Amino acid sequence: MKKVDHSEVTAGLVKRLRTVVQEAPHLDEAAQLYEAMLPLLDAADLDPAPVSMTADQAREKMGKGIPLLRDLDVGLNVDAVRGLMSDLARALEAKGRPKEAYRRLRIAIEKETLEAGGLLSHILAGEYDQVASAADALALDPGLLLSLARNALKPALHTWCRQLSPLAEGIPWEKEFCFVCGAGVLLAELQGNEQAMHLRCGQCGADWPHRRLSCVQCGNEDHRTLGYLYAGDQRDKMRAEVCDKCKGYIKVIATFAPTPAGLLTVEDLATVHLDYIAEEHGYCRIASGQDSCAKAGMQQT
Ligand SMILES: [Zn+2]
Ligand SMILES: [Zn+2]
Repeated sequence: MKKVDHSEVTAGLVKRLRTVVQEAPHLDEAAQLYEAMLPLLDAADLDPAPVSMTADQAREKMGKGIPLLRDLDVGLNVDAVRGLMSDLARALEAKGRPKEAYRRLRIAIEKETLEAGGLLSHILAGEYDQVASAADALALDPGLLLSLARNALKPALHTWCRQLSPLAEGIPWEKEFCFVCGAGVLLAELQGNEQAMHLRCGQCGADWPHRRLSCVQCGNEDHRTLGYLYAGDQRDKMRAEVCDKCKGYIKVIATFAPTPAGLLTVEDLATVHLDYIAEEHGYCRIASGQDSCAKAGMQQT
């Protein structure tokens, strides 16, 4: 395993995670798993090659509704990502339950019975059904495999997102999936004093504006069929915005500044009570099907 140091960023994330657990002790196990992965993700040096794309190419691709990284030869360092997957699996095996599921996963990665290159290409192409098939063929837990591989890809995705986002400046993208990597939207933010609505990608960290008072999934703007669900007096701080037309919901949090990419998963965890509330009321999380995760019985991480 790599020798890692807790950086300032990781320390900030760990602090936030612990606050989350203090407020919601039942999230302790999930938080511990994430905490085990954080230093490894932070120290990962995947050094992805810069992707080659011009502003015109970006405009053309987004105009067709295609995420920028889709079908792009990104020259991913597969060995480095496979190494990170193996390190993550080992860290999770030490913390997670069922231990056996994590152990099987680690062994499949280390012995290379699981072909990492093909698996990662499927994930970058959004072909999650193929990931489920690869897991089935080796009797691995498909949800754990997807979650592990997606986490291992995050450091590279964060780099590509930082590189590609400036090219998308001013190009409209009113979709429920990410304009950089194609993953389904994780949550929405009301940013700054103007409370401008932005959607965020939990995979690469991308941030794109969206009209307020319209459903992210079906575009419904009829206020009679749009509503909020929230806990206690927290409506202005964190809520689920629901749509009765498509029965979808998205979690919305108020922020001064955009949440750093690495912290998005933690904020998703910190608002998990909104998932319970919305699902109890018969709503489905927007874009969970975009990743085909729902279809394959997988969870987003
Ligand atoms: Zn993304
Ligand atoms: Zn809707």
